[in-house]
Amino acid sequence: MEEVLDVPLTPGLTAVLIGDVTLPLAPAVVAAMRELIPAVQDFCGCRLCVEDVYAIALNSLPAHYVQSGSLVLRRAPPSDDDVQRAVADALDRVRVRPNHPDVPDAS
Ligand SMILES: [Zn+2]
Repeated sequence: MEEVLDVPLTPGLTAVLIGDVTLPLAPAVVAAMRELIPAVQDFCGCRLCVEDVYAIALNSLPAHYVQSGSLVLRRAPPSDDDVQRAVADALDRVRVRPNHPDVPDAS
């Protein structure tokens, strides 16, 4: 999906196409979620909770965006341990305080 950031920027530059900006950490976060979620016994596992874990984990990691065009701003990427810790912390947070009322046990 292509997005245009059309706010006043620097003189002569009125818009930036940001559709090619990717989140390089997203695959690592998803991989860590695949690994860690099955090990958490009382994790709700509904779509909202899964999305919350994904968002919280990504937001807790340092920004590491890579643009496919001319500018690449890069810090040392978080290590695998950093990503695992971020996902584990997000899982614990959502498990303890899901962002929805309790739902009846489906079993
Ligand atoms: Zn849930």
